[in-house]
Amino acid sequence: MFYFDEINGKKIMRSDLIEAEHFFTTRETIIKTKETNKEVLANENRKMISEHFGINGENLITPSQTHTAHVETAVIGKNTYPDTDGLILTNKEQAIFLNFADCTPVIIYDKKLNIGAVSHAGWRGTAGQIAKVTVEKMIKDFGSEVKNLTAAIGPAISMCCYNVGEEVYEKLKATVKDFSNLSEIRNGEIFVDLKGINARQLTECGLDAIDICPYCTVCDNDLFFSYRKENATTNRHSAVLKLK
Ligand SMILES: [Zn+2]
Repeated sequence: MFYFDEINGKKIMRSDLIEAEHFFTTRETIIKTKETNKEVLANENRKMISEHFGINGENLITPSQTHTAHVETAVIGKNTYPDTDGLILTNKEQAIFLNFADCTPVIIYDKKLNIGAVSHAGWRGTAGQIAKVTVEKMIKDFGSEVKNLTAAIGPAISMCCYNVGEEVYEKLKATVKDFSNLSEIRNGEIFVDLKGINARQLTECGLDAIDICPYCTVCDNDLFFSYRKENATTNRHSAVLKLK
């Protein structure tokens, strides 16, 4: 279940399924932007979050997301991760965040090993099965077992608002065995459930504890950012993860 909470009186969203420290920022807790008039607020919020976690500001890190299905593991002292759309966190000194405006945020947590990951699944990342790639890397590199993994799929453009072309539809459909209830046709247009497709990919990997955020970035644009609705905005909400 997703619920709203606050840090220093500012709104964030969490899932009760993820036992690590984590949250999804909202418009007022923005930490990523290229808009000059938002930079001051984003810097203040990053400082607030580092202090909230009790870490150095330089240890609050984000990769350079380019819609790949490439997953890395965060290394203490290393702050740049080019072309990386999934980041695994295994240490308690760093906190990681990835950034979104319509694309699907996926937080995965291993409650037994106390390691976690955040992935960025737009349609390209979803077509590249980045959530599954992340799980497979956690299994291969750290010995995670799917029975110990929980996932939270954050605010993203929902099936109410996400129409795609036939080519994208076919690519997304091919990522799961069971595509039932993940698309619909309205007025001759194809709408897909990107959050649901990521959840289905994880289910087909063997996860059974998956929380899906009901909020749509277009319908709930007063809370979150939307690339489509806000004319290619550079403002982002973020999925943030820190191990306890
Ligand atoms: Zn919507």
